[in-house]
Amino acid sequence: MYAPKKIMAKNYRAELTGVFGDPVDDNPTGVIEEAAYEACGLNYRYLTLKVTEEDFPDAMRSIRALHMKGMNLTMPHKITVLPYLDELSEAAGIIGAVNTIVVRDGRLFGENTDGKGFVQALKNAGISLEQKKVTILGAGGAARAISVECALAGAASLTIVNRTLSKAEELVSVLKKHTKAEAEAVAWTGAYQVAADTDILINATSIGLMPHPEAIPEVDYDTITDKMVVSDVVFNPAETRFLQAAAARGAKTVSGLGMLACQGALNFTLWTGVEAPLALMEDALRKEFE
Ligand code: NDP
Repeated sequence: MYAPKKIMAKNYRAELTGVFGDPVDDNPTGVIEEAAYEACGLNYRYLTLKVTEEDFPDAMRSIRALHMKGMNLTMPHKITVLPYLDELSEAAGIIGAVNTIVVRDGRLFGENTDGKGFVQALKNAGISLEQKKVTILGAGGAARAISVECALAGAASLTIVNRTLSKAEELVSVLKKHTKAEAEAVAWTGAYQVAADTDILINATSIGLMPHPEAIPEVDYDTITDKMVVSDVVFNPAETRFLQAAAARGAKTVSGLGMLACQGALNFTLWTGVEAPLALMEDALRKEFE
C-alpha cells in the first residue's frame, strides 16, 4: 500500500547579509563571513553587491523586502545611509558614518565596526588603550572611526597628522566635542617625527595597499622606538613596509588584517548572535591574500 512520505519541517530559506558598495569587486569581507557561516553550520549567505548612488534608495528598500538580517556598507554609502536608519550606536553617531546595519524586529540599527575592529585587534594582542597617547596618520573614514573608538576606549590623547590640515582639524573638533580625550591636529609636511612619548602609532591612510606594496608613509623611522606599538589599517599585504620598518626599530606591530578579521567577527555576531570563529576568519583572509 502506498504510504506518503512523512513531510519533515525543514527550512531551506537562507538568511541574507552582504555589502552594498561601488566599487565593490575587491571587497574581501564575503570570504571571511562565508567561511564563518559554513564553520558554524548556519544557513546564512553574504552577498557582495554593486549598488550605485542612484540605486541606493532601492537597495535600502530591499533590506526589508528580502527580510535581510543585516548589511555592510562601503564607499560611497557610509554617510548617505544615515537618514534611512531607525537607530544609531553611540560611536556611529559621533563618527557620522555607518558600515554595518543590523535588522532588529524590522528596525534598522546602524553601527560602525571599523574602529571597534581596530580596538579589538589591539586587545587580542594584549594592548590596552587606557591612558595611552595615540598618533594617527590620516584623517579619512578609517582614521575617524579609529580615533573615536580609541577615545571611547580611554586613550588620553590623540594626535591627528594629515596632509590636508583642515580635515585633521575637523576631526579634532569632533573628538573634543564628544569625548574626554585631548586632541590636536598636525599638518603632515615632510618626514613626520614621532614624539618620544607616543604609545601607539597608526597608519590610517591607504599608503602601501596593493597594488602599491612598495609605498610607505613619510615618517622619520628613527623616531620609532621599542616602547611603541605600531599598527596599520592596510590589510593587503598583511606585513606592510610601514610595519616592517617599525619592527626593525623594535616596535610591537599589529596588522590591518587582524583589524579586518575582528571587524568581520563583530559583524558576524551582530547578525547571528553566535560567537565568531575569529582564528578561522583570520586564516581564511590570510589564504585569500597569499
Ligand atoms: P579615505 O579616502 O577616507 O582617507 C584617506 C586618508 O589617507 C586621508 O587622510 C588622505 O589624506 C590620506 N592619504 C592618502 N594618500 C596619501 C598620501 N600619498 N600621502 C599622505 N596622505 C595620504 O580612506 P579610508 O580612511 O576609508 O581608508 C584608508 C585605508 O584604510 C584604506 O586602505 C582602506 O582599505 C583601509 N581600511 C582598512 C580597514 C581594516 O579593517 N583593516 C577598515 C577600513 C579601511 P588627505 O585628507 O590629505 O587626502
